[in-house]
Amino acid sequence: MNHSQPLLTIVVPCYNEEEVFSETAKQLTAVLKDLTEDTLISSDSKLLFVDDGSTDRTWPLIVMESTRNRYVTGLKLAHNSGHQKALLAGLDKAKQKSDCVISIDADLQDDISAIRKFIEKYHEGYEIVYGVRRSRKTDTLFKRTTAAWFYRLMNKLGIQLIDNHADFRLLNKRALDELSRYAEANVFLRGLVPLIGLRSAKVLYDRKERHAGETKYPLKKMLSFAFHGITSFSVAPIRFFTFIGFFLFFLSGIAGIYAMIQKLLGYTNAGWASLMISIWFLGGLHLMGIGIIGEYIGTIFTEVKKRPRYAVDIDLYTERLGRAERREPENIHGTRLS
Ligand code: UDP
Ligand code: MG
Repeated sequence: MNHSQPLLTIVVPCYNEEEVFSETAKQLTAVLKDLTEDTLISSDSKLLFVDDGSTDRTWPLIVMESTRNRYVTGLKLAHNSGHQKALLAGLDKAKQKSDCVISIDADLQDDISAIRKFIEKYHEGYEIVYGVRRSRKTDTLFKRTTAAWFYRLMNKLGIQLIDNHADFRLLNKRALDELSRYAEANVFLRGLVPLIGLRSAKVLYDRKERHAGETKYPLKKMLSFAFHGITSFSVAPIRFFTFIGFFLFFLSGIAGIYAMIQKLLGYTNAGWASLMISIWFLGGLHLMGIGIIGEYIGTIFTEVKKRPRYAVDIDLYTERLGRAERREPENIHGTRLS
C-alpha cells in the first residue's frame, strides 16, 4: 500500500435507520469514489455501517448493499448498545485495517463535503480532525438550548469539550490506538478524544436537517448521555455538596448561638415556621446530595463490573477485507433498495 494513499474507513452507527440508509450509502460511496480517483485515499477504503441492534430492516439493507457495492461493509451488534458504544465498536473494528477513520452519523446531518477537508488535514499531518458546526439553525430550539446548557455546564465543571463538535471527526491510527487504552465502560468520546492530546485541527461545516426518519435520541437518552458525560469526567458535583455541607455546618453553629441567646433572654416562642423550613430545606438538600453521590456510585458500579461494552454478532468487515476479489460498485447513483 502506498503511504500517501491511506486506507480510510468511514464508520457509521445506525439504529433503525432504514429510511436514510440507502441515501447515506449512496452519498458516502460517491465521496469515497471521488477521493479514490483523486488518489487522496487508498482504493481499499471502506464504509463500515455498524448496526446497533436495529429492530427494522437496517441490517438486511446493509448486507444487500455490501454484496453489490465494494465500498460497503457492515458490523452487526448483538443488541442495542447506544450511539457511543456502537461508534466505539466500529472504531475498534476499523482500527485493525485502517490508517485513518472518520465517524459520522447515519442521518446526513453532518456535511459530507467536509470529509475531503478532513483527509486534506490528515495529509498535512494532523492526527485528529474535529468537525465543528458553524451554526445549529436546523436543530430544534429545544435541542439547541439543552445542548447549549449542557456545554456550558460541562465547561464550568472543567470538562474540556470542543465547542459545537459532535461525533463527526477523523482519527488516525495512532489516535485510535491511544483511544483504545481508555477502558471505561461509560464511553463519552467527545470528552475522551481531546484528552488524547495529539496534533489536531478543526474543520467548519453547516449542520443540516436529518435527511429522513426521526431522532434516535429521545429526552431519556439525552439525559442519560448528559449524566454519564458529567459523572465519568468530573467529581465537581460531589465537591459542591461537600462545600454546602461545610457551609451549613458553620451556619448552624451561628444559628445555635443565636437561639441560645434568644432562649436566655426569654424571647422564644413555638418556632414552628423555622422548624418547618429547615426540615424541608435540609431534607431536600440531603436527598439531592445522596442522589448525586448515587450517580457516581452508579458509574462506579458499571465500571467495576468491567463488562464488555458491546457484543458483535456478525462481522462483514474483516471477512470482506481479507478477500481477494474486488467488485466494481454498481448502482451507486441508481436503484433504491426498498
Ligand atoms: N444511534 C445508535 N444507537 C442508538 C441511538 C442512535 O447507533 O441507540 C445512531 C443513529 O443511528 C445516528 C446517530 O447515532 O446515526 C445519532 O443519532 P441521531 O441522529 O438520532 O441523534 P441526533 O442527531 O438527533 O442527536
Ligand atoms: Mg442526527
